[in-house]
Amino acid sequence: MRERILVTGGAGFIGSHLCRRLVEEGKEVLCADNLFTGSKENIRPLLGCGNFEFLRHDITEELYVEVDRIYNLACPASPVHYQYNPIKTVKTSVLGAMNMLGLAKRVKGRILQASTSEVYGNPKVHPQPEAYWGSVNPIGIRSCYDEGKRLAETLFFDYHRQHGVDIKVIRIFNTYGPHMAADDGRVVSNFIVQALKGEDLTVYGEGTQTRSFCYVDDLVEGMCRMMDSREGFTGPVNLGNPGEFTMLELAEKILRLTGSKSRIVHRPLPQDDPVQRKPVIELAGKELHWRPKVSLEEGLARTIAYFQGAVKA
Ligand code: NAD
Ligand code: UDP
Repeated sequence: MRERILVTGGAGFIGSHLCRRLVEEGKEVLCADNLFTGSKENIRPLLGCGNFEFLRHDITEELYVEVDRIYNLACPASPVHYQYNPIKTVKTSVLGAMNMLGLAKRVKGRILQASTSEVYGNPKVHPQPEAYWGSVNPIGIRSCYDEGKRLAETLFFDYHRQHGVDIKVIRIFNTYGPHMAADDGRVVSNFIVQALKGEDLTVYGEGTQTRSFCYVDDLVEGMCRMMDSREGFTGPVNLGNPGEFTMLELAEKILRLTGSKSRIVHRPLPQDDPVQRKPVIELAGKELHWRPKVSLEEGLARTIAYFQGAVKA
């Protein structure tokens, strides 16, 4: 029988790439999504496939389905979206994780959690290895997401220790690529859409803060390798591209690659915006034989090509 895989958040940016890959591999894929930040457009080509099914479902509610594996991605990832209804973000992270872990326990299936580099908060250790416990403000505007994801990790490890659930936890660093929503508010999509429309590129603060950007195909490869990794390897494991860039450097690259005449303007820095971010990926190399292959220039070129179609449409 074909392996049955549940992807929560499967209509979102990363989830839709993951679903496509699993469908192409011949898996039986069930995509569960409440379409808060995802869209049917992202999975439109899959809707006609015999081994793909879409279910409009909110993971804060229980779900009774028979599956072998679960990728738990459901959660808004852009600060604009996760701060829109912060209490709902906590519910999605925490109740959603409990529901999906309960499902994994019942069906005795393997479950992978899409955690985040945000568990490191505004890091005092640079670059960030998995052993670092992080520096997170528990009461700030980013806390609903950061602490929600931290508690989800706690739940994963407690279900593993208490009930023997087969867990895999990945910590994803800033990922970008086609299928990001044009109005999503994250930096790569913002800058590209602004550049293509000839609008000012809005750099928050001085633009000296850094991020490490991973192209989505690389991330999905790492994610699938983690799901298939050896029994007993739970993670958490960092997945990201160690190339580190300031937001000003990113803006300049995007202006050059789009040939845009847009100007760079500065806007206030949001509260608790992390100053620097860069993954240590030795563990992923050792356990998963994974490292990212797509350079920032190459990935941006592919993403710009996508938005050229999407912005015009
Ligand atoms: P996204 O917002 O594009 O996708 C999230 C998906 O989850 C959307 O389709 C949304 O509709 C769905 N969703 C949200 N709440 C839900 C709920 N209660 N029930 C069912 N579906 C729900 O974001 P993304 O960038 O694709 O992120 C996917 C996952 O990866 C998230 O869990 C995110 O925290 C994690 N992650 C992403 C990044 C990144 O840079 N993209 C970095 C770290 C972690
Ligand atoms: N950022 C920016 N201009 C924008 C959007 C974001 O300068 O239009 C900055 C933001 O302040 C942060 C970085 O880009 O320092 C990455 O922001 P994003 O929302 O993409 O992700 P996160 O902060 O969660 O890493």
